[in-house]
Amino acid sequence: MRLLLLHDDPVRRHQWQDRAACHDYGSDLFFEPDNELRVVRARREQAAKRVCAACPVRAECLRFAESGPEVFGVWGGTTQRERAVRRRRRKRRAARRPGESASGPARLNA
Ligand code: SF4
Repeated sequence: MRLLLLHDDPVRRHQWQDRAACHDYGSDLFFEPDNELRVVRARREQAAKRVCAACPVRAECLRFAESGPEVFGVWGGTTQRERAVRRRRRKRRAARRPGESASGPARLNA
């Protein structure tokens, strides 16, 4: 994949992108076309994830994808929907106060 969008902007280019395993793949493997059937999308995303699984800069790619506004496509071995779930989980965790469990606030003087 030629890393698109932000990646093509030389000012925002990151060095890790030079080592991306998706360099030789078309962007159509990583980005959903309009009106893609669910079963086709699932197959395409799995194929993209297989490329990501062998990518030496997967962590950097995922961090980049999650560092700003929601981005489309498969990045760092995750789909847009998976990153949205991760984002919601992080928000929920951040909303919890320290010392407070999921079942309620910790009792400090008990
Ligand atoms: S993790 Fe996937 S999308 Fe990101 S640079 Fe590597 S191959 Fe490309």
